[in-house]
Amino acid sequence: MDLSVVVPVYNEEQNIQYLYDQLTEVLEPLGLEYEIICADDGSRDRSFALLKELAQKDPRLKVIRFRRNFGQTAGFSAGFDYARGDIVVTIDADLQNDPAGIPLLLDKMAEGYDVVSGWRKERQDPFLSRKLPSRIANWLISRTTGVQVHDRGCSLRAHRREIVKDMRLYGELHRFIPDIAAWLGATMAEVPVNHRPRRFGKSKYGIGRTFRVILDLITVRFLQSYSTRPIHIFGKYGLLLAGVGFLLGLWLTFEKLVLGQSIGNRPALILSVLLMVMGVQLVSIGLLGEMIVRTYYEGQEKPIYAVREIIDYSTPSHAEAVQKVERQK
Ligand code: UDP
Ligand code: MG
Repeated sequence: MDLSVVVPVYNEEQNIQYLYDQLTEVLEPLGLEYEIICADDGSRDRSFALLKELAQKDPRLKVIRFRRNFGQTAGFSAGFDYARGDIVVTIDADLQNDPAGIPLLLDKMAEGYDVVSGWRKERQDPFLSRKLPSRIANWLISRTTGVQVHDRGCSLRAHRREIVKDMRLYGELHRFIPDIAAWLGATMAEVPVNHRPRRFGKSKYGIGRTFRVILDLITVRFLQSYSTRPIHIFGKYGLLLAGVGFLLGLWLTFEKLVLGQSIGNRPALILSVLLMVMGVQLVSIGLLGEMIVRTYYEGQEKPIYAVREIIDYSTPSHAEAVQKVERQK
C-alpha cells in the first residue's frame, strides 16, 4: 500500500461526509493504493455511525472506534499502529486542513524527506486566542529543541511509515511530532498549505493548552537529551548543589573551630545543610532514573538507537537483513 491517511475524529458529525468527499476527490486521481483510517475518539454524536456507513460502501475507509475519549494523540497513535501505507499522512477531521495539500506534501516527500509538515501560513483562526499563542509556542519550542518548524499545530503532515511506527506518543505529544521525528533522525521539510475556518462543530481546545504545552516541552527536551542518561542532568546539578553546600559548611566549621565564632544563628548554616540535602536527593533521583531507563529499554527490548538502513553484503539477502531489523523494532 502506498498511502495511509490518518484522521482523528471527535464529535465531527457535520464534517464527516464533506471530509470523505473531499479526501476521495483529492486521493483518487493520484492513482495510488490508499486507505483512510479514521480514529473515532469516543464521539458522542453520530460521527461513528456515519463513518461506518461510508466504510460499508468504500472498504478503503477504515474506522477505529475508541471506547471513550482518549485524546487526539491517541487517535494519531492508533492510526499509526494500524497504517499499512509507505507514507502516512495525518489530517484533522474538521476540514480546517484542506485535503488539496496532500499532493503537495507527497511531491515534497518524493524528494526524499522523511517528514514533510504543512505550514498554515494564512491560518484562519482568531489572532489573540489562537495564532499569537501558537506562534510564541512554536518559537519557544524551536529554540528549546533546536528543530526549526514553523507550525507544529498543523495536523496536515506526511511521514514515512518507519518514522511513525517508531514513535511512542503519550499525553498530548502529538504537537511535538516534528521534534520527536527529528530526534529519531528524520530529515524534514515544510510546505505552505491552505487553511480554512471551521464551518461546523466546535474546537476541542481552549487557551488552557498553553500551559500543557510548556510542561510537555520540558518532557520532550528532557527525553531528547537525557532519556538514556538521566544521571547526567540530575547528577550534574546534584553535585553542584552538594559541592557548594559542603564548601559553605567547611567555611562555617572553620569559623567555629578556628576563629571561635558562634555559628548557631547563621542563615548560611541552614543554606549549607539545605544545599547538601538537595544535592544528595538530586543524585538519587538521577540513579533512580538510570534504573527506570534500564527497565524501559530492556523490558521491551527496545533499542536505544534508530536504524535508517543496514548494508551487509555478506548475508544471503540484504533485504532479509533489513527486514529482520525492522521486525526487531
Ligand atoms: N480531536 C480528537 N480527540 C480530541 C480532540 C480533538 O480526535 O480529544 C480531533 C478533532 O475531531 C479534530 C482534530 O482532533 O479532527 C483537531 O481538533 P480541533 O479542530 O478541535 O483543534 P484546533 O484546530 O482547534 O486546534
Ligand atoms: Mg481545527
